[in-house]
Amino acid sequence: MKLSLVVPCYNEAENVVPFQNAVMQAFDGCGYDYEIIFVDDGSKDATFHNLKKIFEAQACPVKVVSFSRNFGKEAGLYAGLSRASGDYISLIDADLQQRPEIVRDMVDILESEPDTDIVAAYQDRRGEGKVLSFFKKCFYSLINRLSDIPLRQDASDFRTFRKSVAQSILSLGENHRFSKGIFSWVGYNTHYIPYTACKRAAGTTKWSFRKLVNYAIDGIIGFSTRPLRLSAYLGIFTAFAAIVYLIIVVLQKIIVGIDVPGYASIIVLILLLGAMQLLCIGIIGEYVGKIFEQSKNRPIYLAKEILSYEKENRED
Ligand code: UDP
Ligand code: MG
Repeated sequence: MKLSLVVPCYNEAENVVPFQNAVMQAFDGCGYDYEIIFVDDGSKDATFHNLKKIFEAQACPVKVVSFSRNFGKEAGLYAGLSRASGDYISLIDADLQQRPEIVRDMVDILESEPDTDIVAAYQDRRGEGKVLSFFKKCFYSLINRLSDIPLRQDASDFRTFRKSVAQSILSLGENHRFSKGIFSWVGYNTHYIPYTACKRAAGTTKWSFRKLVNYAIDGIIGFSTRPLRLSAYLGIFTAFAAIVYLIIVVLQKIIVGIDVPGYASIIVLILLLGAMQLLCIGIIGEYVGKIFEQSKNRPIYLAKEILSYEKENRED
C-alpha cells in the first residue's frame, strides 16, 4: 500500500523543510510507503530552491512540479493529483496548519472501513475573525440554496481518498476549478472527522478578501445555473409590477381625475429598471465569460520543471 501526499506551495520557502520533517516523523515506521508531491505554484521566494534541495537530499520519495507562474491552489491540486501513484491520496497544505499525523488517522479509517472512499477533515474551531466567518456563512447558505450539490461550511480541502476518487476528480476537465464543489459533485461515501487547525508555521495566508469573493463567485457560477433563472424571474416580476402600476395610473386618471405627478417616480423607475437590467447582463456575462475561457481549452497549468524520484511515463 502506498500513500501520496499532494502539497500545493505558494511562497512557502520557510515551511517546506519543516513540513517534510513533520511528514517523515509521522510516517516513518508506519508500515507502508509514501511519497510527497510538492507543487510549487509559481512562488516568488526561495520555495523552489528549497524544494530542489529536499529532492536532492533524497531523505524520502519526493516529486516536485514547478509551475511557470501562479495558477492558484486548485491548479496545484490538479497537477499533484495527476502525478500521484499511491493507492490513497491526501491533500494537505504546506504551512503545517494541518498536521500530517491526522493523515495517518485518515488512512487507518480508509483501511478499516471498506465502504468509506473519502475521509475529510472539518475544523471544529475556526481561528478566523467574526466578519470573515459571517461572510462565509452567507456564501454557504447562498450556494446551498442556488446549486443542487450540498456544500459543508466547515469542510476543508484537507482530505484523504482512494485512487478511484482521484481519477474521478481528474476526469472533470474544467478550467475554473472549485474543489469544494468538485468533491461534492463526484459523490462517494465521505467520513468526516474533526480537526483543529494549528497556527501557520511561517508566512501569511494567501487568501485576500478579494480572492475569497472571486472564489465564491467561481463556485456559484461553476455549480449552478439558477442565477440565470433568477434573472428571468426578476424580469417576469418587473413586468407584472409594471402592469399593476399601469392599471392604478389609468384608474386614478379615470375615477379620481388626478394627473399623475411624474418626475420623481419616472427617475426612480428608470434607475431601478436600469439597475436590474445591468444586474441581469452581469449575471449572463459571468456565464458567457466562463464559456469563453473554457472554449479556449487552455491547459489548467504549465509546468516549468519537474523532478521525480520515479520515472514518469507521461508528457507535459
Ligand atoms: N496556495 C497555492 N497557491 C495559491 C495560494 C495558496 O498553492 O495561489 C497554497 C499555500 O501555499 C498553502 C495552501 O495553498 O499550502 C493553503 O493556503 P493558505 O495557507 O494561504 O490558506 P488558508 O490556510 O489561510 O486558508
Ligand atoms: Mg493555511
